[in-house]
This record gives sequence, structure tokens and C-alpha cells, in this order.
Amino acid sequence: MSPRKKKILKRGKRYQRARRLPLIKKEEKYVPHILRGMKDILPADQIYWDFVLKKMEEAVRSYGFSKITLPILEDKKLFEKGTGRTTEIVEKQMFNFSDQSGTPIALRPEGTPQLVRAYIEQGMDNLPQPVKLYHFGQRFRYERPQSGRQREFWQFDIDILGSEKPIVDAEILLLLQNIFQELGLKINFEINSLGCENCRKVYRNKLVAYLGGRRNKLCPDCQKRLEVNPLRVLDCKEQTCQFFLSQSPQIIDWLCEECRAHFTRLLEYLDELEIIYSLNSRIVRGLDYYTKTVFEILPKRVDKQKDQQLEAQPAHEIVRGQIALGGGGRYDNLVEFLGGRSTPACGVALGLERIIEELKAQSAKIPKIKSPQIFVAQISEIARSTALKIFENLRQEGFRATHNLSKDSLKTQLEIANKLKVKFSLIIGHQEFLNKTVIIRDMNSGNQEIVDQAKIVREIKKRLK
Ligand code: AMP
Repeated sequence: MSPRKKKILKRGKRYQRARRLPLIKKEEKYVPHILRGMKDILPADQIYWDFVLKKMEEAVRSYGFSKITLPILEDKKLFEKGTGRTTEIVEKQMFNFSDQSGTPIALRPEGTPQLVRAYIEQGMDNLPQPVKLYHFGQRFRYERPQSGRQREFWQFDIDILGSEKPIVDAEILLLLQNIFQELGLKINFEINSLGCENCRKVYRNKLVAYLGGRRNKLCPDCQKRLEVNPLRVLDCKEQTCQFFLSQSPQIIDWLCEECRAHFTRLLEYLDELEIIYSLNSRIVRGLDYYTKTVFEILPKRVDKQKDQQLEAQPAHEIVRGQIALGGGGRYDNLVEFLGGRSTPACGVALGLERIIEELKAQSAKIPKIKSPQIFVAQISEIARSTALKIFENLRQEGFRATHNLSKDSLKTQLEIANKLKVKFSLIIGHQEFLNKTVIIRDMNSGNQEIVDQAKIVREIKKRLK
């Protein structure tokens, strides 16, 4: 700010107005802070992220899935049409803005519509079917942040497009069972069928007839849902609505023949494959595109105390949405609905933050990062780049070496080496630099020996055997 402006500002707004000077506002003090509902994933947590992603990618690749990477931004209309205009996600939770050209953009709130967009746009319907894809990344939903619910979170999606067979649904569930086994997490699948448009119409009428008589007792949101999308009432977390729902008609009693056969065959496959599941007629998943099979993955806590707490709570008090580790199902009409050929499909989205929190809650075993074996220390400025070169040499030879070349004092460097519990420290001082040698210090015994820099790799190999 110029000194003149500063002077005007100091004299105050009245002075500025009296003199008809343009009003100058004080610059707001800005304290950098993270946005609400967003999270920095710190280095200490990366071990969990690496572990989870590695296990998931290994499993899906071994099942023949290929990776696809999709953009974070999409046309807002894709989600309005794909996810559904009356869904919570589109109605209340999308992060929207217009870009410089005025195109309405959304930060993706979920992955399925954009996967389908890519499937159609990239001509994947011409590939041998079914097409098996996985993708992962951030999703954005403007929700009230709370435990297990952020505004930015990561999902790992697994999808099979191009088959209507129930064995595909079973394959995804078996793959998920393997993933959670590999992660060391105990889970349970809760499964339901939403049928097709035909049977859903019949069920919808039954449900409206049942709930219509109790309309005034439902929460205000459900009174609205009853008009717009009655099935969504089944998803309501309000206690009063839950009470009425416990006696409401169940969709599986109203499935048409084809949907019933699909569901029955799937359950038979699950039994044959020894996949443990429970039926839950209240799972509707809250998105418009689901047909037939829907399911959620819920953690089965091994922690007795938490287990008892969960079991002691009546079902309606367990905030399901907050603990589900993932959910998915069939979306047989979405590809056609978004302009592609008729392509039945099935998929799942896993919530990575929740899975990581569950790993911590269930005290699952995470492989530790291997600690360094060698610390390279230097004593004089002249030796610093030699130390870095030796470190690089050791690294290329496959040793786990480390250093802290910003430090000057040898004592400090050896203290760091001690904390890291390395077996050997290599010390290069002025003399060693001139003689092209290194001091090898055994950190347990404190014994030291001088060796030629050219022989260091051989010497270390011998000692680490
Ligand atoms: P959905 O796309 O809503 O079916 O969510 C699938 C999974 O993503 C859920 O089961 C959660 O594990 C995770 N998830 C959904 N919304 C959030 C959120 N706001 N914060 C963290 N994880 C979420």
C-alpha cells in the first residue's frame, strides 16, 4: 500500500467520505487454514494409504481389472442426469462453479457417472465384454463434517460393465471378501434387491399406501420424499421414521420374476462361494441408477467393548451411513440412460478414509516401513558432497541408507543415527576426504575402521550379511 493510501486509511472513513475520496478498506488479515471438511494426509498416515492401495490394486489386477484414471472435474449435468436430480448428492452436496467460459462444472461427488461417460465416449462398448475397470481418487460432497464424513474423501471403485449375469455380482463380492481378508478387516455384507423399474413401481405404490396413512408422523424430509422419491424414506435416519419402516412392506416380496430369479441365483452363488452376508431390506443406496442387487459393507468390530456398544444400540440408532466402508450394486440402465448402448453393469465404491480408520480401530497389522541400515555422516563442509555421493551409491546398490547433511556436528548426526537404530554409520571428515577413505562405525560396539571409499559397497555387503 502506498504511503498516501496508508495516510488516508489512518484518517478514517469519515474523512474519506468528507473529502469524497474513494473508500479504502483495511486489508483483511489472512491466516492460512485448511477448508472445513478437508484433510491433509500426513506422512505418518501414508503407511496405511500405501498398504490399503497396494492390497486393493494387487487384488483387482489378479481378477483381471484394468486401471482407468478419470478427471476430478466434470460437466455438472453429468451428475444431475447420472446420479439423479433429486438425490441428496446432487440437490445439496455438489461443489459447483462456472469456469471462465461459463460452463457449469462440478467437482466429482462420486465415480460411477464419470466411468460410464468414459466407457461411452472412449468406445469401450466395442471392446470384448464385460469390461472390468477400477479407479480411485478424491470425491467432494458438501456435507456437515463429522466422524467418518468429510467434504473431500477418497473412493476406490471397482466395476464390471457389459454383463447382466448374477455371477458378476458374486464375483465382485468375492473379490471384496478377499480384499478385506487381505487387509485383515472383519466385515459383513448387507444385501438387498431394488428390482427393476417394473417391480419398483409396484413396490413404490405399496410403500406410499403404507406410509401415506402415517404421513404426518414422518419427519419433514420424508414427507417431501414421499412425494418425490418414496424409496428414499427407507434410508431415513430419523427415529420416528425408522419405527414405521420396521413394519413397512419389503421390496423383495414384490420383485418381478426376472429380478427374483437374479437375486435368488446370486444368493445361491454366495452360499456356494462361502460368502457370509445378511439380507437387509432397508438398503436403497440413495442414488437413482441402482437396479436389482444393492449391498453395503459394514465393519464387524473385533473390539469387544465397541462390539457390545454397537449391538446394544437399537438398529435405528446406528447411523449406518457413517460406518459403511463401501457400497455398490447393479446399474443396468445407466449406460443407456447416458446415451450409450444397453449395457448392464455392477460396481462398488470403497471409502478409503473409513477403511483406514477401521484398520486402526481393529488394530490390524500394517507392515512397518523398513528402517535404514546405514547412516552417512560428514564432519567438514568439504566432505558434504562426497557424503551425498556415497549415500547415492549405496542407495543404487539397494541398501537402505540415510543422512542428514544439513547438520554440522558429528555428535548430532550420530545421535540421529542412534535414534534410527542403524547398524553402521559412515563418517567422512576432512582427512577422509583427502585420503578418499571412510570411517565405518559399528553402532552397537562403537568400533571404528577406516576403509577406501572405492571398497565401501563390498565392505558393507560383507558386514550386513
Ligand atoms: P456412496 O458413494 O455414498 O455409496 O459411498 C460409498 C462409500 O464411500 C461409503 O460407504 C463410505 O465409506 C465412503 N463415503 C461416502 N461419503 C463419504 C464422506 N462424506 N466422507 C468419507 N467417506 C465417505
